[in-house]
Amino acid sequence: MRKILIANRGEIAVRILRTCRAMGIETVAVYSDFDADAPHVRLADQAVPVGPAGPSESYLKIETIMEAARRSGADAIHPGYGFLAENAHFAAACEQAGITFIGPASGVIRAMGSKVEARKLAEEAGVPVVPSAGETDFSSPGFPLLIKASAGGGGRGIRIVRNAREFQESLAAAQGEAQRAFGDGTLLIEKYVEGARHVEIQIFGDHHGRLIHLFERDCSIQRRHQKVIEESPSPAVTPELRHRMAEAALALGRKIGYTSAGTVEFLLAPSGEFYFIEVNTRLQVEHPVTEMITGLDLVRLQIDIARGRPLPEQPTRQAGHAIEARLYAEIPANDFLPSTGTLHVWQPPAGIQDVRVDSGVEQGTEIGVHYDPLLAKVIACAPDRDTAIGKLAYALRRFAAQGVETNREFLIDVLENEEFRAGRADTGFQLPPQHRSSDGRVMAAIARAYIEHMQCARRQVLPSVPIRYRNNPFTSPPMRFEIGGHEFQAHASEPGVEVLKVSGESVEAIVEGVRREFHVFRHADQYYIRSHSAQRTVTRLPRYPQRAGASLHQTANSPMPGQVLRVLVSRGQTVRLGDPLVSLEAMKMEQTIKATMDGLVVAILVKPGEIVAPGQTLVEIQAQEDSP
Ligand code: ADP
Ligand code: ADP
Ligand code: MG
Repeated sequence: MRKILIANRGEIAVRILRTCRAMGIETVAVYSDFDADAPHVRLADQAVPVGPAGPSESYLKIETIMEAARRSGADAIHPGYGFLAENAHFAAACEQAGITFIGPASGVIRAMGSKVEARKLAEEAGVPVVPSAGETDFSSPGFPLLIKASAGGGGRGIRIVRNAREFQESLAAAQGEAQRAFGDGTLLIEKYVEGARHVEIQIFGDHHGRLIHLFERDCSIQRRHQKVIEESPSPAVTPELRHRMAEAALALGRKIGYTSAGTVEFLLAPSGEFYFIEVNTRLQVEHPVTEMITGLDLVRLQIDIARGRPLPEQPTRQAGHAIEARLYAEIPANDFLPSTGTLHVWQPPAGIQDVRVDSGVEQGTEIGVHYDPLLAKVIACAPDRDTAIGKLAYALRRFAAQGVETNREFLIDVLENEEFRAGRADTGFQLPPQHRSSDGRVMAAIARAYIEHMQCARRQVLPSVPIRYRNNPFTSPPMRFEIGGHEFQAHASEPGVEVLKVSGESVEAIVEGVRREFHVFRHADQYYIRSHSAQRTVTRLPRYPQRAGASLHQTANSPMPGQVLRVLVSRGQTVRLGDPLVSLEAMKMEQTIKATMDGLVVAILVKPGEIVAPGQTLVEIQAQEDSP
């Protein structure tokens, strides 16, 4: 194997490229028009354009990827995860073209790609499965039930049904969604296991009959049925249970003749029983957790297996504790729907021992609507769980990511949550409402100091101006800013905030007696300000309000292209933060757009059936007079 084409983008393409380079194997990247300047393209030895931004016209197009392999002379293809990684036709096309597919055999991918089929094979291998309602009789396991697309993935197309009344309606909707999103309307109806943890076993098989496992990962912290925090070992798994779960995973792997990397996913019920849910026939997003506790490079193992090398012996112990958090461009207050924009500020934490950051973006990267909104994965490792969690939270606090909304603070809040720390969070875990100290006043004061400095510097052409000097502090009017949906006024001096120095993009100040440094990045009227503890988008408001008493105004925008299904509010209605506003069909699934602040609905700008573009305003909300 001399040259590998990586049929993917983003962090996973970068991750695979690194290992290829370390192994001295030539690489070929593929890229859509949207990704022409992406880091994965620069990191590869060669690159082939594969078409427009839309994934179905580029990264998902089998003939185009095969043609790229032929043209560049690649003798193997690594599919990463997502896109073509679990596409049996693609694996078969590689097999036929004599190109090594770095993954399992196409027949295995086909069998495991159907959750219905995978369940059958698991049962035959003696692996316990979640009680199912079968394909015709939906009544047996009792409510609550879970409806899943048999061909689904990434948490998409999963619905919980709590009573018979909801059932028929959900069933019809789920079928349509599954057909549109995955090209297969087959559904699977399972008992909803309440209070379960998601525990999965990493397996590897080679072409010499050896099948090993690399222990478990606990991925119970999820949103929208997709993992966001993963760790190993699981705080809920004893050595005895680990042994039984690993044996179950290996039994299924043996039954289907598994080769390459795979993950057998289970639900671990509060009773201590565990049930098979599915097999992912690829490298998993959260694989670095396993790399850190085993010291193995899982991509290297996949490549070695594909070129006929034997696997190492079954490892016997997990060294220490590793935990990963997925940093997404998304809006936690809006049901974690993707957020788009430009990454104006991007500075991953550096120099923290045993903290790894995997990402495929950089400062200035455009985060669009076409691809998965994963920005980076941060993985921390330590001798014990508590230290690993603390280190990961520390790294996330130091991770500067501004310009799009992210789940960074959500992740930190989860890591600092007592239930989570105690190892008790299950897949139903929901973060209780957070009470963050409002630092808006301080941020506004910093923004004002920065703006005044820039104005002075422009007028006097001085590199640094002592900012305590002011012409006439008494008449200088306050500056108005919007921060996190609230308005703040910054006066010439702010009690408790003493600005010491402004230079370049940094402001030093003593805040409540503690010296702190703030970084400011300006884009139009937005100031991205960050300190060691907070990152805020500060928007400068016009000096004079349009009309007396004018207050904050917010709009609910569509995060992605879609079609309006229902408008759930009417003009003049009062809404609270989190209330549903509009239901959209986007990414082939139903999505609900929610209010991101309390207020009054002053305008509804769309109608059911209308096609909307990303960023298009759907509803306008105005904060009530005199809100903070
Ligand atoms: P993992 O299962 O590795 O923890 P995710 O569930 O987050 O990771 O999925 C990883 C990526 O693969 C996501 O971009 C997800 O949308 C995509 N994906 C997973 N399964 C499928 C599938 N069956 N069809 C299409 N995309 C999928
Ligand atoms: P996907 O292919 O989208 O990853 P999975 O079948 O792996 O779908 O399920 C994703 C998540 O949904 C699981 O990690 C778990 O949190 C939840 N889930 C799936 N099946 C059940 C079930 N029967 N009971 C309770 N939760 C479930
Ligand atoms: Mg899954």
